[in-house]
Amino acid sequence: MRLSPLYDTDPVGPVPQGAFLNGVVAVETLLPPQELLRSVKGVEVAMGRAPSERWGPRSIDIDILLYDDEHIDSADLTVPHRELWNRRFVLAPLRDVASDALLVEAIDTRLRELGDAAAVRLLERETRR
Ligand code: AMP
Repeated sequence: MRLSPLYDTDPVGPVPQGAFLNGVVAVETLLPPQELLRSVKGVEVAMGRAPSERWGPRSIDIDILLYDDEHIDSADLTVPHRELWNRRFVLAPLRDVASDALLVEAIDTRLRELGDAAAVRLLERETRR
């Protein structure tokens, strides 16, 4: 439904590596959460992601940030995504596609709390709808 601009972001975590490109899409789907997870992990494989690159450089990483208002805590899926509120590089593009005013307000509050705005740089300006 909506596609955020891309952000050029500094790597987070213990492994020295190059910058990442981050973006968020808002989708409408008939897939329930677990099937959506299987589907996006299948897309990662189709795009050439090799297994066991956690924290390190990777060609693609697709996460489920939110699924309606659902809270899911199963062995292989946590929604909202566990790190959603801790990562500026997730919150900035999520704000671009968010349609819920309360969500936008909560993101703005959190972005003000998180420092280091320079670590997340806007690459292209336009949000596609
Ligand atoms: P990743 O390192 O992002 O490829 O994710 C590793 C694992 O995290 C996946 O295989 C999922 O089972 C698990 N996971 C838990 N919650 C989520 C989520 N919200 N979105 C994507 N993966 C998740």
